[in-house]
Amino acid sequence: SSGPSSRLTDGLNPPQREAVEYRGPALLIVAGAGSGKTRVLTHRIAGLIETREAWPSQILAITFTNKAAAEMRERVSALLGQASEGMWISTFHSACVRILRRESEKAGLTSTFTIYDSADSRTVLKRIIKALDADTLGFTPGNAGAQISKLKNELTDVDAYARNANMSDPKEAVFLEIFRQYTRTLRSAGALDFDDLIGETVYLFRAFPETAALYRRRFRHILVDEYQDTNHAQYSLIRELTRPVSRELVVEMENKGVLVRGLEDETGIIPGASLTVVGDSDQSIYAFRGADIRNITEFERDFPGARVVLLEQNYRSTQNILSAANAVISNNFDRKAKNLFTTVGDGDKITGYTGYSGHDEAQFVADEIEALHRKGMAYRDIAVFYRTNAQTRALEEIFVRSALPYRVVGGTKFYERAEIKDAMAYLIAVANPLDELAIRRILNTPKRGIGPATETQLAQFAETNELSFRAAMREAGSLGLGPKVTNAILQLAAVLDQAAAMLVPVQVDGADQTPSDDPNAETDARGGVGAAKVSEVLTFLMTESGLLEALRRSRDPQDETRAENVEELVAQTKDFEKENPGSGLVDFLTQVSLVAAADDLDDSSGTVSLMTLHTAKGLEYDAVFLTGIEEDLLPHKMSANEPGGPAEERRLFYVGITRARQRLYLSLAMTRSQFGDTSVAMPSRYLQEIPADLIDWRQSPGMANSRGGTQPRALNARRDGRGPGQYGYSSDPTLPPAPRPKTEWPNAIGAQVRDNGDLELAAGDRIRHTNFGEGRVSQVTGEGTKRVAHVQFDTAGAKKLLIKIAPIEKL
Ligand code: ATP
Ligand code: MG
Repeated sequence: SSGPSSRLTDGLNPPQREAVEYRGPALLIVAGAGSGKTRVLTHRIAGLIETREAWPSQILAITFTNKAAAEMRERVSALLGQASEGMWISTFHSACVRILRRESEKAGLTSTFTIYDSADSRTVLKRIIKALDADTLGFTPGNAGAQISKLKNELTDVDAYARNANMSDPKEAVFLEIFRQYTRTLRSAGALDFDDLIGETVYLFRAFPETAALYRRRFRHILVDEYQDTNHAQYSLIRELTRPVSRELVVEMENKGVLVRGLEDETGIIPGASLTVVGDSDQSIYAFRGADIRNITEFERDFPGARVVLLEQNYRSTQNILSAANAVISNNFDRKAKNLFTTVGDGDKITGYTGYSGHDEAQFVADEIEALHRKGMAYRDIAVFYRTNAQTRALEEIFVRSALPYRVVGGTKFYERAEIKDAMAYLIAVANPLDELAIRRILNTPKRGIGPATETQLAQFAETNELSFRAAMREAGSLGLGPKVTNAILQLAAVLDQAAAMLVPVQVDGADQTPSDDPNAETDARGGVGAAKVSEVLTFLMTESGLLEALRRSRDPQDETRAENVEELVAQTKDFEKENPGSGLVDFLTQVSLVAAADDLDDSSGTVSLMTLHTAKGLEYDAVFLTGIEEDLLPHKMSANEPGGPAEERRLFYVGITRARQRLYLSLAMTRSQFGDTSVAMPSRYLQEIPADLIDWRQSPGMANSRGGTQPRALNARRDGRGPGQYGYSSDPTLPPAPRPKTEWPNAIGAQVRDNGDLELAAGDRIRHTNFGEGRVSQVTGEGTKRVAHVQFDTAGAKKLLIKIAPIEKL
């Protein structure tokens, strides 16, 4: 073939073009942030289609978020001038759900299996731990869940674990029991957790070579973005999909009529699919989820003969931003040195800001955003990142007050609200009658007099009679319960049955409703002609169950918003129907389960995006604010004890920096309130890794009349001519770690901030604050360096101030 047309390769640099045009079994593109990795993938897909080397249905592209998938689909369509229909461009999870729903029978599941999120898993684990008294051994739903997840990501199922468990260790024995019961509970509920989605697909392919062969034959080109963040299970899935199909299997399947010839080579085998992976080991930030950087570093060993392409030109950021990123990441040892460059010029300096408090920092961010906006930057081109969700509180408070249009990406937690989970549980109970968790959740929601004792009785009845919980409900009449309770149970069961009946499609003559064996077939038996819409079923359930009325009638003002939220959910199902004609309840439930954090992004809305650093991966914005660049936040205090923790946190910082196109802001606060407690914060060790001349430090107006430098003194250190290694973050692994900086905030910024030491203050005292003016102390709380003055200012309102460092004097 003659290769993709110039339309698809013009405007690419030589290595990018090579990556787009290369044809062979395996291609690895390793490159720093913003070097066009994702762009190359997109052009490569379009090139394969344009040259007719591949049909759309032969493409499987894996992205990190559903949002990235949607974007890639759009870009491919735009390049080709036609819809990208038939291609699988999706996340690992979505692709696996699709495969498992088609092959559910072989996987021992119903096609309507439920997907449990981490909250659901916790609920299950909580019950198990309680029943086993396992909390006495230190088990919590959190730590047991994390351990199970880790094992599943390594493809260690409960049987494999049992084979190697040391049963004389009581902790291990109990954990095995937890793991076993957890597995059993999910199985009998017809449910899979997130990790199962990948693992079960791998097991399916290993157990059913013919099924695997059909998918191997189908997907001829597999492309994976953000490969550095794949874990062992995901890696294994890719390996399963890219293996050749043996000659014997081809012959056997052909004889059965399930395989059509045409793809075999001269030896009779179907060669493995061509695999393209792109990644940047400097952006690996999911080790805590089992991501294995070795997948990328050992790619060449795993796929012999693989072509490796390096990209070094960055098209996203200015040189100043890149230099900062390069400097920071060069402190991680055990990495291949690479230096990104750009031709767009230095650009503006990075702006640094040290706030007095988290609120002060948020005010700075809000003010700067307004300034950028006045200069013509759209709100949607601006993003604010943070390490922990808790940091949004101060930001949101100030943004609301400043009437700044913003949106917390992945933080809205709409689907985590109790009333939404209740409504969803009704839908799940209808879709998957085996799902006991869902049914038990709604058994007495709204209150219908079915207490925990009755619930237990039902569960036991189900167990002794080998019935599902749902079937047991239908038999409630024989349990000897009171008439009122019996009636309530029967009524709920009837409502669920009626809703299920609404979903049964009207049978069209001769239409085959069984799922097809052929993965190429796109028919989906779960939608269907004549079936009620999701919104209709939901409305029916909410009305007939009495949930909506109970929320509306309640005198609790909270319940009013709850009713509105349920109505919002109905509206969302209607939107879903419009956007996904022909899909049904299970598709809706799947979509909700898989909504990844970055998926609520809506670039067309003119709002500033707030998100965690993890969510920011792969995205880019004209202006980026990295907030809370403090010790204990970045690096996060939980990372200190993890091997490789601080290095991973540094990569997270690197990811954040490299999202910025033109403007980068780094901000921190001297004090941070969390859970009602105000503590003194220290500048992040990573800040000093950025050459001082790249940053313009500004300071809080609260410190404006203090004398001295404009940046925290710990950061000034580089001006003394000492290298970055002095603080113990040496890039030389042979050196013993140097001591951590002893500087604490008040000293580190001593040039700027007074140390009030033991300034005596009591209720009734009048004070003057350099920023807020005069006010009266209403109360003093806390001890020692953590003493806080509650002050009613004459004009600035009520404030809480950390006495030790607040710029205040007693009048
Ligand atoms: P990350 O590591 O952050 O995922 P990436 O390597 O995937 O980054 P892309 O998102 O593909 O990088 O590209 C970064 C930006 O540079 C995009 O806006 C892209 O359109 C642009 N870009 C990439 N290559 C070129 C090129 N050859 N000419 C012009 N712009 C380009
Ligand atoms: Mg990318």
